[in-house]
Parts: sequence; structure tokens; C-alpha cells
Amino acid sequence: MAELRAVSDFPTETLPADVIPLEVFRALPKTDLHVHLDGSLRIETIVELAREQKVELPATNPTELRSLIGCGIRFGTLVEYLRGFDITLQVLQTAEALERASFELAEDAHRENVRYMEVRYSPMLHTRRGTKLTTVVEAVLDGLRRARDAYGITANVILCGIRNISPRASYRMAELAVAYKGRGVVGFDLAGAEEDNPPKHHLEAFNLVRQNNVNVTIHAGEAYGAESIAQALHICGAHRIGHGVRLRENGSLLHYVNDHRIPLECCPSSNVQTGAVKDLRDHPLKLYLDLGLRVTVNTDNRLITDTSVSRELWLVHSEMGVPFSDIKALIRSGFKSSFQPFHERKAALRRVVAELKRYDDRGQLREAAASPERVSRPGDQPLTLASGK
Ligand SMILES: [Zn+2]
Repeated sequence: MAELRAVSDFPTETLPADVIPLEVFRALPKTDLHVHLDGSLRIETIVELAREQKVELPATNPTELRSLIGCGIRFGTLVEYLRGFDITLQVLQTAEALERASFELAEDAHRENVRYMEVRYSPMLHTRRGTKLTTVVEAVLDGLRRARDAYGITANVILCGIRNISPRASYRMAELAVAYKGRGVVGFDLAGAEEDNPPKHHLEAFNLVRQNNVNVTIHAGEAYGAESIAQALHICGAHRIGHGVRLRENGSLLHYVNDHRIPLECCPSSNVQTGAVKDLRDHPLKLYLDLGLRVTVNTDNRLITDTSVSRELWLVHSEMGVPFSDIKALIRSGFKSSFQPFHERKAALRRVVAELKRYDDRGQLREAAASPERVSRPGDQPLTLASGK
């Protein structure tokens, strides 16, 4: 197993001169529309929660625990990648732990200037100690609300059915999404092992959420082919697609996705980890972007993939050769593709467009003196600073 970091991070001193440094990406306003709560905890928090809850972990030293979870390791398959969750889920079985993990996730996102996020998880995975499903949902909403009060970050929730558990369990999750619609839950997703578990098996859950006008996104085209994306769109009614790596295998569907402006939630480093792509240069993101598709860049799992949105955007720029002007377009697409109500989305986008305009195409903040109001063109009258003198 190889460290993802080793192949994808240029040491700063060997960066080509025209590569914009990571710090610039950290300063930009951003979204994270595809991030799993149970894959995005802080490692120290896992250790602390385990101690408090008397849960026995396979290691208590954070470095060892990170390697057991497989943070940043290339697994090559989605099924192996999902094993790290066995560890994180052990400590996420109480309301207090869920509240804390949600707060800290939003706090970490805020620290890299994420303005809007949609946190996803499946409540059924958090009831091993008898916590009620409704308590699970409310604990996560409480944590995200506390982060909003502290930092102003807006974070909503997407509830997930799990493809490899059962359609009946997915239906229970769909019921929760309906019950909490308009109260912090903005969507429904289907996650888990993709192979042999097509989304159409969970059709009843999708029918319930769609009848209740709940937004739908589905993990598709990650470990299984374009057919899974077609099912997600045409049978299950997805409004967005999680990953969509294998959409490039079907030109007609690719153009359908483009024509209908269906957003793709791309998570490049995670795709390398699960073997959905060989390496970052093999990722179809740039192809999709150049074809005009609505592409968003996300983390998937901040702990397990050992990443942030800033880092993902930076890798898109430095490894895939996407210019900074297109990075700004990717960020705008994130704000355009959120499951917020239209008017909120529009207002957030307007603010972000104005902020991004302050950066030129080399990622530099334009001088205050060069802002449109103050620029004098050839032939303009000289500015009089102190009139009458
Ligand atoms: Zn995911």
C-alpha cells in the first residue's frame, strides 16, 4: 500500500514557477458538498472519545491509529477503504460524541474558509449503544448549529441509506430525511459498497423522499460503471451525482449530465485511494470541466483521505494542470450546486463572485488601487483628491 501523499504532494521547492501555493487556496471562500461525518473526525478526538467511553481501540497512539485507519493510504478498492470506518464508528455511538464530532468538522472547515457544507452520514450506523435514531439526527444538527453560532459557517445535513445493508433500512433513513426536511436536513444519499448493490434496489426509499420533495444525490460511477449513474438519474431521480468518475465511459450520458447541468461531486484524492483512478492525472475532472460540466470539488473523508477542500483544489491545479481561472469556476459551481433554497444559494453565490473577483488569474489579490472604481483610463481627467485646492 502506498501513501497517497507521496505521489500527489509536490514539495514546495520543486513546484514549477507558475504553480500557485496552497495558502492561496486556503484563503478562498469554498464549499464542501460531499463530506462524510464518520470519515472526517480528528484523530485526537477518536482517542479521547475512546478513553471517555471505555472503548478499546486497536491503538491509542494517534500515529499508529492513523495508519490502522489508513489515512492517506492507497487501498485500491472501495471495500478496503471503507474498513477505516469500523474504527471511527466505534466512538460515534452517543449523542455527546456525535455533537462534538459535528462541531469539530464544521470548525475544521471554517478554519480553511469553507462557507457552506453538507455533512452526510447514516443514522442507522450510530445506534449500537441504543441511541434513538431521532437523537442521533438531533445531536448532529446541534453540533452544526453550535459551529454556525460560533463561526458563521452554514452546514446542512444529507442522510444516507447504505447500499450493502438493506433496502428496508434505507427506507427508515428516507423516513428520517422526510421528518427533518426544512429542519437542517437537505438531502438523501445512497452510500456504501457499490458493486453488486445497484441503487434501484433502494427504489422505495427514493420514491418516498422524492414524493416529499427532498433533494437526492447518489454515490455512483465510483466503483461501478456508467450504468450505475444512469440508474441513479433515471430510476432514482438523483439531482446530483457523487463521484461520477466512470461517466467518461458513456458519451451520451455524459452529454445528458452536461445538458441538464447535473452537478458532479468530485473527490479526487479519495478516488485515488479507492482505485477508481490510477492517479490524479488519470482523473476525468479536467475533461469534465473542459466539456463544460458542472463540477464541484470536495473532500469525501477529511481524516481517511487526509485532506481538505483547499488541498483538493490545489491538487486539481498543481497535478491536473487546471488554471486558477477555472479553479474560481469550480468554486462558483460548488455554491451553485448546494441543496440550499434557491434564494439563499443566489445570495451566497453573489457574495462569493464578488470575493473571487478580487483575485487575478495568477491567484494574487488585486491592488486596492486597481479596483474598478479607482482605475483611471488613458484620456481620463486626472483625479482631484482635494477638490477646490
Ligand atoms: Zn462519499
